[in-house]
Amino acid sequence: MNAERFGDIMKISLPTPFPVGDVNVYVIKGDRLTLIDAGVKTKESWEAFVHGLSQFGLTPEDIEQVALTHHHPDHVGMLDFLPDDIDVIGHRYNEKFLTRDEHFMKEQSQFFERLFRQFGLPKEWEPMLKQMGAPLKFSCEEGRLTKRVKEGDELPGLNGWSVYETPGHAQSHLVFFREKDGTLFAGDHVLATISSNPLLEPPLRFDMERPKPQVQYNESLKKMLHLPIEKAFTGHGGEVTRIHSLVERRLERQHDRAMSVKEMLKDKPLTALEVCINLFPAIYKKELGLTLSETVGQLDYLLDLGQISVRTDEHQVLHYVSE
Ligand SMILES: [Zn+2]
Repeated sequence: MNAERFGDIMKISLPTPFPVGDVNVYVIKGDRLTLIDAGVKTKESWEAFVHGLSQFGLTPEDIEQVALTHHHPDHVGMLDFLPDDIDVIGHRYNEKFLTRDEHFMKEQSQFFERLFRQFGLPKEWEPMLKQMGAPLKFSCEEGRLTKRVKEGDELPGLNGWSVYETPGHAQSHLVFFREKDGTLFAGDHVLATISSNPLLEPPLRFDMERPKPQVQYNESLKKMLHLPIEKAFTGHGGEVTRIHSLVERRLERQHDRAMSVKEMLKDKPLTALEVCINLFPAIYKKELGLTLSETVGQLDYLLDLGQISVRTDEHQVLHYVSE
């Protein structure tokens, strides 16, 4: 059983090849039958999806539109399997990732090379950057965004659902909220049992400044405190019913973590990579993108609070200094 009904919301859990495990997609009937998120692009996922739909008497052809919470492969992959003519709704940041625009992908690798050099990565580690793109294998290639939505919009075809921008885990991240009964589609913004990780991603345009995902994420979490949320349907795992206390806990824990990073800088300035190795000695090599994102998140947060400062050396490498 991978399908469950909650009032008018149909939840289907789909397998992924990622450590996070299953991803949830949701089907809801408004003016149009809407799918929230689209799993990974694998045969197993598609079969589980078709099976899940059948439990509700539906088939993939019944889906009239897809609303995306964000552009990550486990949320967009099956767009390649769905009919070409359905509407795909989401933040404009999704666009280049859904089509895997070649020029954009190249600029993205250059962005990360530059960034990781600033973080103190030696040149001989550059091949490790390549493996960061591996999950793209499970993403879509032929997806395209047909309707852009932004903060304050109502979801087209789905009356009563408002769009909130929640960047942090992804630059494209949106949540959808129904005021009437306090229901939220949270995507990966808030998960029940694991804390969602802010990820380093390029800005919308490469001439813009790098986003600070942890700082954005905290703001996006705080945004949830102002919404009367009764129940949040998440991208992975179970529903969250006490989202406000969960958000408070997550914010506190992150602050404590940042303070322990500040301690590390007491004796001498460190690069982001050096801090990363201190924080994640066992896994940083295998999970460089994730662990460095987490590390830089804490450093950005401390910088934002004015708790630390940063110096650039003659090789453009950043050294973080405790005040
Ligand atoms: Zn996810």
